[in-house]
Amino acid sequence: MTRVLLVEDERQLARALRINLRTRGYEVDTAPDGRTALELAGRRRPDVVVLDLGLPDMDGVEVIKGLRGWLNVPIIVLSARHASEEKVQALDTGADDYVTKPFGMEELLARLRAAVRRAAPADEAAAVVETGAFTIDLAAKKVTRDGREVRLTPTEWNILEVLVRNAGKLVGQRQLLREVWGPAYEKETNYLRVYMAQLRRKLEPDPSRPRHLITEPGMGYRFES
Ligand code: CA
Repeated sequence: MTRVLLVEDERQLARALRINLRTRGYEVDTAPDGRTALELAGRRRPDVVVLDLGLPDMDGVEVIKGLRGWLNVPIIVLSARHASEEKVQALDTGADDYVTKPFGMEELLARLRAAVRRAAPADEAAAVVETGAFTIDLAAKKVTRDGREVRLTPTEWNILEVLVRNAGKLVGQRQLLREVWGPAYEKETNYLRVYMAQLRRKLEPDPSRPRHLITEPGMGYRFES
């Protein structure tokens, strides 16, 4: 099921959208302001975000900035204003598409379907990642080593998944903590040390000399296949 984070302060509109989206089989979380949106995104992991740019507590563009560092899902902005400047700014900041208010429900749904469809192929293409020592199936959420499934805890899996989806790239400690535990845990770097040690014991041929789950001292971690 596709989970939508709907950020809209106009209650009537939020309600109408929520009902329509649920009728079409989407799961919907609703936030009436930017702060709630950021908090919900960390906790509930939306597959797509529908974001009104005019919010009571902060500019929608600030919400995009807050999400984009760690959440790589489509963001569709709703803009009441006809001035294109705001939309351009939103797109520059990382929004994927926009719909101008007032809009028809079918138009928004079409944009939503298109955005989700565009986001999907990249995931499928990299669904199975092989290393010399183990194989990760991102779609099935399974790791195998020497032909046997390796049992990972949900947290271990979440860490591994974030690293594998960013293969070859440095993932900062804060980013990893935020993605796995949520924004309130950004400073708990000791969590990472503990879980990375566990993951290495389960996956690395020589855990004391990791070749796939690499530490960048003081910075973060990197997955190398
Ligand atoms: Ca508004």
